[in-house]
Amino acid sequence: MKIISDVLELKTYLKEQKGKVGFVPTMGALHDGHLSLIKRAKEESEFVIVSIFVNPTQFLAGEDFDKYPSRDEADKKICEVAGVDLLFLPQIEDIYGRDEVSLSAPNIRGYVLEGATRPGHFSGVLTVVNKLFNIVNPDLAYFGKKDAQQLNLITLMVKQLFMDITIVPVDTVRESDGLALSSRNIYLSKDERVEALKISKSLHEASILVSKNILEAELIMEKMLEILQPLDVGYVAILDREFNFIKSVEIGKSVILVEALVGDTRLLDNIWI
Ligand code: AMP
Repeated sequence: MKIISDVLELKTYLKEQKGKVGFVPTMGALHDGHLSLIKRAKEESEFVIVSIFVNPTQFLAGEDFDKYPSRDEADKKICEVAGVDLLFLPQIEDIYGRDEVSLSAPNIRGYVLEGATRPGHFSGVLTVVNKLFNIVNPDLAYFGKKDAQQLNLITLMVKQLFMDITIVPVDTVRESDGLALSSRNIYLSKDERVEALKISKSLHEASILVSKNILEAELIMEKMLEILQPLDVGYVAILDREFNFIKSVEIGKSVILVEALVGDTRLLDNIWI
C-alpha cells in the first residue's frame, strides 16, 4: 500500500494508474463501518484510495477537534489488510491556505437537523470533500448512510457542481446489540453505552410501527421520544429521501433520524424505510 501526504505527489502518482478509482474519505479511527465502505470500493473499483484527514473547518468552536480520536498506526494496518491501494494522509497545511475561497452549504438543507445543531458544519464538510474530490479525481466515492444528511448534501453538491463522480451510499454497520459504529463511541462510559442503545432501539420501534402500517410521522416520533427518555434529544425527524419533512412515512422513500447527546457525546443514527 502506497502512503502519500503531499497533494502534488498524489496527483502525479494517480496519473500513472489505470482503471476506475474508488475513494473513501474518512477522519480515521477506522472501524468496521469504514471497512464496509472500503470493501464495497474494492468490489467496484480497480484502484482504491482512502483518505484520513480530521477536517478542522467542519468542527465548531468548543467541539472535539483537538481530542478527535487518532489511531494512525492501527489505521494504516487496517487499510493495508483491507487491500487499499493508496492511503492519503494530508496535513492541514496541505489542504488549507490562509485566505480561502469558500463553499457554503445550501441555506435550507444545510441548516436543518444536524446543520441547526452545528451551524456551518456542512459548509466545512462540503469544502473539504470538494477539495478531496479535486485532488483524488475519483470515479466513485463511498459514504455511509449513517451520516444521512452529509450523504444527501454531498450528492447534491456533485449534482449542482456538475462533477462526474458517482456517490455510493453504504448501509450502516452496527454492533450486535444495535449500536451504530462510530469513531466517537470510544468516548462513552460503560453506563453511557447502555443509554446509547436507546437510540437504535427507538429506530427499531419505528420500523416495527411501520411494519404494522402505523405511518403517521407524529405518532412514530412520539413513541420514539418515549424510548429515548431521559436522553438529551437534539432531534427526531422523519423525512423523504430528498430531505423534506413528511407527515406520513412512505415505505421505500423515507428516512427516520435521531440525534441525541449521551453524556457529552453527540450520537447520530437513522434508518432508511
Ligand atoms: P468519519 O470518519 O466519521 O468521517 O466517517 C467516514 C465515512 O464512514 C462516512 O462516509 C461515514 O458516513 C461512514 N461511516 C461512519 N460510521 C459508519 C457506520 N457505522 N456504518 C457505515 N458507514 C459509516
